[in-house]
Amino acid sequence: MEYYALPIANLIDELSKLPGVGKKTAQRLAFYILEMENVEAEKLAHSIVSAKSKIKYCSVCCNLTDEDPCHLCRNTKRDSSTICVVQGPKDVVAMEKTREYNGMYHVLHGAISPMDDIGPDDIRIKELLKRLQNEEVEEVILATNPTVEGEATAMYISKLLKPMGIKTTRIAHGIPVGGDLEYYDEVTLSKALEGRREL
Ligand SMILES: [Zn+2]
Repeated sequence: MEYYALPIANLIDELSKLPGVGKKTAQRLAFYILEMENVEAEKLAHSIVSAKSKIKYCSVCCNLTDEDPCHLCRNTKRDSSTICVVQGPKDVVAMEKTREYNGMYHVLHGAISPMDDIGPDDIRIKELLKRLQNEEVEEVILATNPTVEGEATAMYISKLLKPMGIKTTRIAHGIPVGGDLEYYDEVTLSKALEGRREL
């Protein structure tokens, strides 16, 4: 890194912290940015600062939003008796693309993973329970990823919900184990939603 002028080295260093970006890609991106028109580079920098300062968690569903409650929670045309629980904001987008689901969401921001030292208190389960006490909810669809962590999280939540008398369903595995919900096409996801089962 000492071959580069300090500002370039810093830029490469910051870019290489992004997921999926190795040192080589970070260097390529840094030089691309340096070649950009000033106004384009400023737009990029501004969009990062703006997203960071304006985006917060929805106080209802915990999804990322610039308005609180988010547009999905505010939409009175949606079925408020059903909550679909997902691991991350990208899963909400994936579910919305199916056009099969018209209920509400709850975003956990992770999954229980003892290996990574992530327990139930580290994700938004408490917030979900609070919602279930205050809202008229008939069904909770557990749409966590079909991975070991996603399954463990679904099981954990279903055990908590059992005594509350709320119907708890799990999306079916029309999808291979070990995958990420956000990567499936609309058909696979809507099939999985169709074939959900009660836990
Ligand atoms: Zn919301």
